Amino acid sequence: MNDLYPKRGARDPDIMQLEIGRYKRAHIPPGPPPKQDPRERVLNFDEVFLGYDETQAIVEAMRCIHCPSPEPCILGCPVHNDIPTALLLIEQGNFVEASMVFRATHNMPEVCGRICPQEILCEGSCTVAGYDRAVNIGKLEAYCTDWQRTHEGFPTYQLASPTGRHVAIVGSGPAGMSAAEELMRDGHTVVVYEEWPKPGGLNVYGIPGFKLSKQILAEKAAWLETYGVKFICNTRIGKDISIQRLLDEYDAVFLGIGAPIGNKARIPGENLKGVYQATEFLVRANLPLADLPQRIRSRPEIAKHMAVIGGGDTSMDCVRSSVRLQKQSGMTDGVVTDYYRRTENEMPGRAEERMHAKQEGVHFEFLVAPVQFIGDENGHVRELELQRMELGAPDASGRRSPQPVEGSNFRVPADVIVLALGYSPDPTIGDSLPALEKGWKGLFKVETEFTGATNIPGLYAGGDDVRGADLVVTAVASGRHAARAMDAYLRALETPFKRDTGESAPTLA
Ligand code: SF4
Repeated sequence: MNDLYPKRGARDPDIMQLEIGRYKRAHIPPGPPPKQDPRERVLNFDEVFLGYDETQAIVEAMRCIHCPSPEPCILGCPVHNDIPTALLLIEQGNFVEASMVFRATHNMPEVCGRICPQEILCEGSCTVAGYDRAVNIGKLEAYCTDWQRTHEGFPTYQLASPTGRHVAIVGSGPAGMSAAEELMRDGHTVVVYEEWPKPGGLNVYGIPGFKLSKQILAEKAAWLETYGVKFICNTRIGKDISIQRLLDEYDAVFLGIGAPIGNKARIPGENLKGVYQATEFLVRANLPLADLPQRIRSRPEIAKHMAVIGGGDTSMDCVRSSVRLQKQSGMTDGVVTDYYRRTENEMPGRAEERMHAKQEGVHFEFLVAPVQFIGDENGHVRELELQRMELGAPDASGRRSPQPVEGSNFRVPADVIVLALGYSPDPTIGDSLPALEKGWKGLFKVETEFTGATNIPGLYAGGDDVRGADLVVTAVASGRHAARAMDAYLRALETPFKRDTGESAPTLA
């Protein structure tokens, strides 16, 4: 373990001996970090949050009252970051040491500090939330890890001695990149296969730049490359290279392909021009065109009436991207509306995202479900037919289920419609490897989430391809767990090395 890691329990056990006591800490007012003004931010795709400055970060960190163990924030964090120790180090101005506390348990703290739903995780468990706004743990995590990255770069690691074992990682999203980093540190040779043109997976191709700067992931991938991790992009395993070939040529393989297939609406008109799946819409709206595959290397359509169907965070990403596209095109009378079949109370996405969307001018229509998309003579969508809903008894999710109101159909103009109806796993790899056990909807079956071991020796999986669409932080946790199990598996292997050190990895050529 790196010497920079402070040891757990390094905090003064009697917090009252610190410069300020609990009582004073509890009376420091919360300091949310500054944001771009809504009128300005709709004109760009830059991050909305501007981040703390040094003084703001120190004062906010002082709001932590340092609960006795077990600290609820640590329990609320899926990777169990030692948050109180990190906040104490921030309070003392030791930003690099604080960053290393987060990095001890997390491979992407600068990402999750920005995009975790903190209100239901660490901050939702924060004792201070019982009488005031919770300590801004996520923004402090982003602050100190950004400080380290921008002042000193990512940390310098002493890698374990080379093992001679080669690992293929399929997918460079949060699970894959975390597993790659851990296995690299364990002394294994790591090759990451990514189907998009740039590394980063969901973090780059799923999350808009106004929530997470893509520069962070570019720097992370470049840093991993300096340690010998090789990224092979534009390569889809199961299509361009078979999964069996990876199993034959590598000592172990990790599947971190996420759940990337957008669910369909299954109503008439879904194939009309102007109807987009969320991922295609978002990547075409958000990324430099050079970072997109040739087949979708153009901006999506921009129209006066743009509609998004769905109630999760992806739907908010789509409406907010739509507003930006309209504003950047100079349109002043554009209308962007999110349509959702339950009420706002049942929306699964973050309240903060909805608040940002409302500030940016997005309209919401609740208790409506799409019935059909209506096109013109050129096959382009022009109208959206909806049916009003009312809430019935709770369904399996515990939320009250939407019930159609007979005779309530109505139509609204819609020249662009984006479907943000959730995601399902990609069956390509599973279908090409019948021996691999699958579960619900084709998700990969693993021994436990703490090993990620599939029924095929040497093949591991983690993240959304095992759990279904979930959080980035849970995917990071899966990648870390699987890496530990893979390291143990590789060290116990008695079979000859499958590849010579320095031998090139399989590519399309
Ligand atoms: Fe909170 Fe997420 Fe950071 Fe854990 S990883 S401390 S849950 S923001």
